[in-house]
Amino acid sequence: MAFELMPLPFAKDSLGPTISARTLEHHHGKHHATYVTKLNEFVAGTPLEKQDLESIIKATANKSGKERKIFNNAAQVWNHDFFWNSLAPNGGSTPPEPLKKRIEAAFDSVDNFRDKFVEAAVGQFGSGWAWLVAKDGKLEIATTHDADSPLITEGHALWTVDVWEHAYYLDHQQNRAGFVKAVVEKLANWQFVGKRLDEVDR
Ligand code: FE
Repeated sequence: MAFELMPLPFAKDSLGPTISARTLEHHHGKHHATYVTKLNEFVAGTPLEKQDLESIIKATANKSGKERKIFNNAAQVWNHDFFWNSLAPNGGSTPPEPLKKRIEAAFDSVDNFRDKFVEAAVGQFGSGWAWLVAKDGKLEIATTHDADSPLITEGHALWTVDVWEHAYYLDHQQNRAGFVKAVVEKLANWQFVGKRLDEVDR
């Protein structure tokens, strides 16, 4: 069974002006779709073909050659699926309890979390991802390079923002800070984060 492009869990024109329909056509319809196509090409006829995405990512992490290519595409498929699930039209605002308390325990306030998240995302040099993760029961902010994610680093992913240029250039040009700030304030899908936290707390 080949991997398939996950449909966007929201309407293409519902995230503007932070993320326009045009950006989503390129980002989901071209970039994300290409990772899926390449992943299927690279795993075809290998023992990885029948494994699930997370197993493939873990099996090919920190390798070279063809395994590196499989890792990059598999990890980018997982990261993008996670990113789309992290977004919601009319998101942002105040996280529901008990998530809000956990954010306050880790970052003093939701506003401070937002500032620290933007700061970390801007500090990620070049392409990568900014994450909210749960590590040893505590919430932390992390960043990863290129296709890397908490799946192969540390902690459990709770929320993410794609900070590759293709995520924001059409709508925000070089203004990564403006993009990330708008995503945190207006599009964060706190229901999804709360559900993830429930799962990792178990
Ligand atoms: Fe992307």
